[in-house]
Amino acid sequence: MDINNRIPLMQTHLDFHTSPDVAGIGSKFSKENFQKALKLGNLDSITVFAKCHHSMCYYPTEVGTMHPGLDFDLTGAMIDAAHEIGVRAPVYITAGWSHYDSMMHPEWRSVSKDGSYTSNECMPVEGDRDTFKPNYSWYMMCLNDGEYAQHIYEITEEICKRYKVLDGLFYDICFMEEACFCPTCKKGMKEMGLDPESEADAKKYLIIKRQSFMTKCTDILRKYHPDATIYFNSGGADPYKPEYHDYSTHFEMEDLPTSEGDYNKISLRARYFTNSGKKYIGMTGKFHLAWGEFGGFKPKEALKFEVAVMAMYGAGASIGDHMHPDGEMELETYRNIGFAYDYLKKIAPYCYGGKTVCDIGLYLSDDREANSGISNILLENQLDYGIIKDNNFSDYKLVIIPDGVVLDDAGLNALNTYIANGGKLVLMADSLVENGEFQLDFGVKYKAGAEYDCDYITLREKRDNIPDAPMLNLVPAHRTEVLAGEVYADFITPYFNRTFNRFFGHKNTPHNKDSERMPAIVKNGNVVYMAHSLAKSYARHGSVYHKRYFMYALNLVLDTPTIEVSGIGAEGRCTAINQTDNNRYCINLEYAVPVKRGEATIIEDIMPVYNIAVKMRTDKEIKRVYLPLTDEELAFDSADGEVTFTVPKLECHTSIVLEY
Ligand SMILES: [Zn+2]
Repeated sequence: MDINNRIPLMQTHLDFHTSPDVAGIGSKFSKENFQKALKLGNLDSITVFAKCHHSMCYYPTEVGTMHPGLDFDLTGAMIDAAHEIGVRAPVYITAGWSHYDSMMHPEWRSVSKDGSYTSNECMPVEGDRDTFKPNYSWYMMCLNDGEYAQHIYEITEEICKRYKVLDGLFYDICFMEEACFCPTCKKGMKEMGLDPESEADAKKYLIIKRQSFMTKCTDILRKYHPDATIYFNSGGADPYKPEYHDYSTHFEMEDLPTSEGDYNKISLRARYFTNSGKKYIGMTGKFHLAWGEFGGFKPKEALKFEVAVMAMYGAGASIGDHMHPDGEMELETYRNIGFAYDYLKKIAPYCYGGKTVCDIGLYLSDDREANSGISNILLENQLDYGIIKDNNFSDYKLVIIPDGVVLDDAGLNALNTYIANGGKLVLMADSLVENGEFQLDFGVKYKAGAEYDCDYITLREKRDNIPDAPMLNLVPAHRTEVLAGEVYADFITPYFNRTFNRFFGHKNTPHNKDSERMPAIVKNGNVVYMAHSLAKSYARHGSVYHKRYFMYALNLVLDTPTIEVSGIGAEGRCTAINQTDNNRYCINLEYAVPVKRGEATIIEDIMPVYNIAVKMRTDKEIKRVYLPLTDEELAFDSADGEVTFTVPKLECHTSIVLEY
C-alpha cells in the first residue's frame, strides 16, 4: 500500500516518559479501557511508545533497559489492542534525550564547543538532591553515528523484529543541537578533512552524520517493514531545515499554541509542506500548556478550533496526551479529542483533496521574523498564500520577497522572466540586495542601510485608516534613490540617535521636520518596494498601522484578489481549494480570538460573527452555493466573473461549497 495513503487524519500522540522511581507500570492497563479511549477519541492512529526520555523501554528488551516497574510487553499490548479495532499504532523511540543512558554513558552525550555537556536550552540537568529540577532539562545525546546512535539502531532492529505488524516509527528529538564536539565527533571531523575546532565545520559534520543516522534507521525499518512510515521529529517538521525533509515519509508539525509559538504558526508551516508531495499533520496537545503535563486540559471547543484550522490548511491532526504510569487511559481526555475529531470527520470532504486557491507566493527568507510578520499580515487580511520553491514564481499572481533574500542566477532569471510576463512583485528593506546593489533593475537604486535608530513614515495621499501624521518605525528604513517610478510614501528621520551622550525624554527622539524626505514606498510597473521592513515591525511591535501601511503597498499591485472576505476582522481566516474531480470550490472560514491569560494564550469564548460577505473571482460558471454541514442553500450573484454571497453566521468554522 502507498505509504502516503496510510498517514492518518485523526491521531493521538501518546507520551509516556515515566520515571523508574514509580512502580506498578501498566498495572491498570487493559485492552478494553485502551480501546474504549481510542473509540471515544474517534482515532484512526495512535503513536505508542517503546522507549522514553528516561531511557526506559516498555517491552522486554535485550539491548535497552526495560522499565523496572513493568513486567509485560506494554508496547505490544497497545499495538495489538489498536490493531484489533483497526487503528494504526506507529511506535515512538526517543533519540536525542535519554536520561538513564546519559548517566550510564556520559561519553554518549553531546558536547558543546567549550567542552561542557550540551543540555536542552543550557539548563542544568543535575544538581543538589532536593532542589527543583527545571522542566524540560535533559542532556542532549550525540546522534552522530557513534556508540549511542549504534544503540538506537539496535533498539530499532529489536522493535522491528519483535512486532510483525509495525505501522511506523517516530524518532523524537533528532535535530535540537546544531553541532557536537564530543571526542568521537572531533575524530570523525578530522577523518573527513574538517576542522574540529570550527563551529561551521562541526555544523556541516552534524548534518552529514544526522542524515546518515536517518538513513541507517530507515534501512533497518525497510528490511522488516517495507511499507511502514518513518518520521524524524524535533519540535515539529521545520521549514528551515530542508536538509532533513527527504528522510521522513510525512511531516508532523508539532505545535502547542497555548505556550509555544502561537495560533498562526500552523499556517506558514502547513503552506510550506502543502506542495511537498508528502502528507502533513498538525500536532497539538490536549494539555493546557505543554508536553509532560498531567491533569492539564484544553477546552474541547479550543481543540475543535485547532483541528479545524489544521484541516483548512490541508493538514491531518494529531493531539498529544501523556498516559498515567499505571497505564489507564484518561477517558475525559478522549471525550475531548473525540469531540474535536467528530467535527474533523464532518469537514474533511471540504478540506482535503483539492488544489489550494491563492494569488500570493511568499519567498522564505532566513529572517524568520520577517516571514512570520508577512504571513500574519496576509492571514489577518484573509489572503492565503503559497511558499515559493524551486523558483516557481509563475504559479502566483504576486510574489513577496522579504528582507535579506539574495537570489542565485537561476532564481534571478526566473524572477526576471516572471516580471516580464506580467508577474507582480513586492520587495522590502534589503531584499535582493547583493554587494550594496539591488539584483533587479526596477528603477530604484540602493544606497545604504538606516542611519538613525528609528524614523517616521508618511503617506503622500490621505487614507481614512492610516494616520495623517509622521508614524514611528522602530525598525528604520533602508535608503534608496528613485530613478523611475512613483513614490507613494516618504520617511523622515529624528534629530539624532538616542545615546548616553544625547537623548530625548523617555524614548525615541522626535522627527526632525527639516530632515530630508526619503522614499518609503515606491511603485514602478509591477514592482512595489517598501524601504521599511514593515512586516518585521509588525511581528515585533504589533502596530495595526504598520500592517495597514504594508497592505497599502501590497494593494498597489494586488488589485483583484481571487477571494475577498469582509466581516470577520483580523482574527478571521480563509482558505479555499479547487476540487476539480467534484467540480467545486470549497471555501473554509474560521473565527476565534486567542487571548493572553497569564503565561498562556488560550481560546475561551468562540463568539459567532454574522453576515460575512464573500466575493470570488472565477472563470467557472457557479451553479450552486451552499453550506454542506447544514445543507443550507446560499443566495448568490454572479456577473463578470465575480460570484458574491453572504454567509449568515460563522461560529468557530464553516465550510462553503461552490459547485460549477
Ligand atoms: Zn558527538
